[in-house]
Amino acid sequence: MNTPESPSARRQRSRQQLLEVIRRENGVTRSDLSLITGLSRSAVAEAVQDLMNERLVAEDVLAAGGKGVGRGRPSALLVASGGDGFVVGIDFDHERVTVAVAQIDGQIRAEEHAVVNVDSEAAAALDVAAGMVHRLLVQTGLSLGEIRAIAAGVPAPLDLKSSRIHQASVLSGWVGLDPARELADRLGKPVVIGNDADLGAAGELRFGVAKGARDFIYVKASEGIGAGLVLGGAVDRGATGAAGEIGHTRLGEQGAWCRCGNRGCLETVISSTLVRRLMGELGLPPGRDEIFPLAEVARHPVTGRFIAEAGRTLGRVLADLSNCLNPAMIVLGGELGTAGEPLADGVRESINRYAQPTVASALEVKLAALGLRSELLGAVGLAGQHALLEV
Ligand SMILES: [Zn+2]
Repeated sequence: MNTPESPSARRQRSRQQLLEVIRRENGVTRSDLSLITGLSRSAVAEAVQDLMNERLVAEDVLAAGGKGVGRGRPSALLVASGGDGFVVGIDFDHERVTVAVAQIDGQIRAEEHAVVNVDSEAAAALDVAAGMVHRLLVQTGLSLGEIRAIAAGVPAPLDLKSSRIHQASVLSGWVGLDPARELADRLGKPVVIGNDADLGAAGELRFGVAKGARDFIYVKASEGIGAGLVLGGAVDRGATGAAGEIGHTRLGEQGAWCRCGNRGCLETVISSTLVRRLMGELGLPPGRDEIFPLAEVARHPVTGRFIAEAGRTLGRVLADLSNCLNPAMIVLGGELGTAGEPLADGVRESINRYAQPTVASALEVKLAALGLRSELLGAVGLAGQHALLEV
């Protein structure tokens, strides 16, 4: 038997429910709220007043009919407002950690990155991230108490139930780890965790090239290749959290061995690691931050051909996925995305060749507007969302 819910837990749940509806509808009356949620009019009125006092919800005076709208008038339209406060977003890439302190509406106050072997040195990467958070707080003159939520992205599929990194994951040093708890222990505050490609999709949806899109595929093409699927306006993570792992699509029976244990996966054919290896063989400067974005590399006669071919190979996989999902847009992010149009041209070529004509003609291929920061801004957005829902 379920234990009865305490009045304060019930109030908290009603409040979250109302805030979610107000954010979704963005213009809803108190009586609509009562109809949609099934809460009594008085419960709605009380909770809305609280949310207005905290500046999380405002009355949209103009939409409600202009002048003379009285305070709390039942027919006034309610809209979500930014709220006050700060959040922290963390992005763990395979070899790099980036941390940002931002306002709740996503405006960045300070940002810093560090190179660290995230894949194999989980504890060190978590320590570095925690250290960066503390440093940025000092730099911005904020205390941890002023941070309303923290969110972090990891480059591995996360089990939706346990929040742990999936066993079959490619992050060898992180398998079985609970990154949310590890970070919370180091920071002394709860941390929300997401998959990096899902956060990249969320970042482009909220702040980037996919604003307002309902159905699109975001591809993070770096050391690994992952996709974030936005279906019906929200990130779809699948039954267990592993949706979008397109890097392990098999392209052939006899290909190179992949870190997942199969052969011939997409990741063994295209990745930023392979671009770097090729650059090394050609005697091009091996630097990391200096050499990426890859726009320069895409103009080189040899690496340029590799990038174009990588686009066509990626497009081949995305054509099949598009036939299933019929998205309006494909957004190319990650390090390979910074190669720019030559990569996008290759993807378009394969989409036009292999996707169904009706699917291909409805589909735009675009480059991530936020560059290598899509995941970081997705983490900031996720933290903002949690801050608004959990007050
Ligand atoms: Zn694989």
